[in-house]
Amino acid sequence: MAEPGFSGALACRCGKVRMRLKRPPLARYYCHCMICQEVYGRPFGDATVAWRFALEIEDPALVVFRRQRSIPFSVRCGTCRFCAGPVVGYTALLPFLDLALLPAHTYRNPADVPAAVGHIFYDSRVGDVADDLPKYGGFLASEWGFARFVLTGLARPGTRPSGAAGA
Ligand SMILES: [Zn+2]
Ligand SMILES: [Zn+2]
Repeated sequence: MAEPGFSGALACRCGKVRMRLKRPPLARYYCHCMICQEVYGRPFGDATVAWRFALEIEDPALVVFRRQRSIPFSVRCGTCRFCAGPVVGYTALLPFLDLALLPAHTYRNPADVPAAVGHIFYDSRVGDVADDLPKYGGFLASEWGFARFVLTGLARPGTRPSGAAGA
């Protein structure tokens, strides 16, 4: 069972790739890396990070994956075969912490998307962002920032793998 109030219904921009997230995301963050700028077609990516095991893709054959080695965490970026929009990225914080990066716009229910907690790769930003969120620039600081976002997210209700599944 999902968390009360959490629908977990996700889809790409054209709606052909449908996914289900069985647990709320750990965190939402803004990524200013060049890959996100390209994949999202925006100044920065607006993404969430969730447990990979909690994600089900209805038809994985509709998602095209390519590995991006130029950014940390060695993200495997998945885009929709039809609309080419970002769908999911796979990465690991540590070899045993498999994570899924999901664009905020893929959540069908806006209430499922938490407030953003910070910016990473802020050094490659297109423009300044006027908010009070922490901003990490550069490879190591961004990796540290991302790890902090994930760890902070473990305190969110329903996110811990060992926690009650909410029967
Ligand atoms: Zn699509
Ligand atoms: Zn990025």
